[in-house]
Amino acid sequence: MTPKIARFLAEQQPATPCLVLDVDRVEEKFRALQSALPLARIYYAVKANPARPVLERLVRLSSFFDAASWEEVAACLEAGARPEAISFGNTIKKVSAIRRAHAQGVSLFAFDSAEELEKLAQNAPGARVYCRLLVENEGADWPLSRKFGTTIENARTLMLRAGEMGLDPYGLSFHVGSQQTSTRAYELAIGKAAMLFTDLTEAGVNLRMMNLGGGFPTRYRDDVPEIDMFGNAIMGAMVAHFGNNLPEMLIEPGRFVVGDAGLVSAEVVLVSRKDPADPVRWVYLDIGRFGGLAETEGEAIKYRIATPHDGTPMGPVAIAGPTCDGADILYEKSNYRLPLKLACGDRVELLSTGAYVTTYASQRFNGFAPLQEHYL
Ligand SMILES: *Cc1c(COP(=O)(O)O)cnc(C)c1O
Repeated sequence: MTPKIARFLAEQQPATPCLVLDVDRVEEKFRALQSALPLARIYYAVKANPARPVLERLVRLSSFFDAASWEEVAACLEAGARPEAISFGNTIKKVSAIRRAHAQGVSLFAFDSAEELEKLAQNAPGARVYCRLLVENEGADWPLSRKFGTTIENARTLMLRAGEMGLDPYGLSFHVGSQQTSTRAYELAIGKAAMLFTDLTEAGVNLRMMNLGGGFPTRYRDDVPEIDMFGNAIMGAMVAHFGNNLPEMLIEPGRFVVGDAGLVSAEVVLVSRKDPADPVRWVYLDIGRFGGLAETEGEAIKYRIATPHDGTPMGPVAIAGPTCDGADILYEKSNYRLPLKLACGDRVELLSTGAYVTTYASQRFNGFAPLQEHYL
């Protein structure tokens, strides 16, 4: 928790549940990433937290942006981003969204299929395009599965075709999965993409760019490698494969930039036991899976939880949200422990929840209002 957030919570006692985010911390994380990978251009993945104060601060820092929809493109433009600084990185785009973004001056688009490439040729003629490769997501706590990316063979065919279709075959991309805790995942993906890059260059395609995606982790309950370790691994792999002839490098961090900058302040609604003899207490909070904590699905992301009784004796708990849905359980199998003193009415903080929380909050399920947001 940053001093600014601590002061805000103490002085304002904002209604719970709410997200409180320190925008200075966003700037610190952005700068840390810049110094870990000084040769890479940073395209902030807007979906992680599209709040206006976050986007405006990043515009001031001359960040670039990775947008996934027309609405995200518009949010970047409204926050002051130049259209040339926006990449339309979703490989699944509505035709109307492509047309609107292109008309506004966005000129960089992702694809991973012949069908999407055709849409781009028709609706964004002349645009720079990059092909997303399917890579392993091993080591990622929030993998992106096989939904995105294509094979090396298909990517080769499509990149050769792009030029003939009036598009500019600009580069290749991949995403190693979100909350990626292994630097090796980047090394392997770079190796795979670099082979195709060299092959296409030899075939006469004027490729200039490698987009290494996002995935850089936030520290939740478990430690993760420092960002410099990722920087070193990535630069080592890039130099090993490209030598002095490095292409432009792009990265698309989301979680790393905003995750650590925010916390959710919540209230304990009930602490109970299924049976008086049961050692496990059930702790129900006023926020759960549907209030924005979607990444607790499968107990994938394990947030740290601070309470007013930290440092006193603890016992095992299951932690759940306030709705009437049986899926609204945050943690039952992950061996969470909380103070025995914890009681109804206590305020608790879910730490490092600045990414992928506000955007996942549902609309009034069981009547609960969407998560309130405070940007400091
Ligand atoms: C979600 C996403 C990102 C951001 O991923 P993080 O794990 O939050 O860094 C980057 N690029 C693409 C294409 C994405 O879909």
